[in-house]
Amino acid sequence: MSYSLSCHCNAIQLDVEAELDDLLQCNCSSCRRFGAIHWYVPADAVTLKTKSVGMSTYAWTAVNEGHHFCKTCGTSIMRTGYPNGVVAINAACINEVDIFELEFKQWDGRSKMPPGVQR
Ligand SMILES: [Zn+2]
Repeated sequence: MSYSLSCHCNAIQLDVEAELDDLLQCNCSSCRRFGAIHWYVPADAVTLKTKSVGMSTYAWTAVNEGHHFCKTCGTSIMRTGYPNGVVAINAACINEVDIFELEFKQWDGRSKMPPGVQR
């Protein structure tokens, strides 16, 4: 199934061609603040409709891992840095879906990942 996603100001728009499953919310010190519902999909399932758009990136634990945000409205749109070409799209940005209807697993990043800035 195909889903369209956008940040709040529509500067960033994506299409994702994938089943809406494998959703996860993480309570680590970073993800809980962003409030993202991680939707793990292959990167080639994602089409960036707004080309050459600037995003802000927060690199927390490694240079090849990043949380990506709209520079204008601050919406958390995706996270990169997973193996095997997987990206985590923020399912809360899906235009056609009421997030109250989503089912997702919880991952206890609070216990498994140390809080604060990593060095
Ligand atoms: Zn925006």
